[in-house]
Amino acid sequence: MSDPTYQPPYKPVSSTPYDQPDPARVGVTRMNPFEHFCAVCGAGAGFGFGGDFMRGEPGLWACMKHRAEVEQRWRRG
Ligand SMILES: [Zn+2]
Repeated sequence: MSDPTYQPPYKPVSSTPYDQPDPARVGVTRMNPFEHFCAVCGAGAGFGFGGDFMRGEPGLWACMKHRAEVEQRWRRG
């Protein structure tokens, strides 16, 4: 995730680097290909809550910085 040369294997939602916040990507989740961005800031998200692949439920995702905040949001439902 910290590799600055990292490029997702799909056409990005925007030209913003994967690990940078972007309002256009807040809460974006797509199943095919699978990609997910922070529900708070839109940066590439490494932490997911409540996802269920078998039911096609992508869950709620968060970057490192907003992990606790998004987890709380998910717990509240
Ligand atoms: Zn974030």
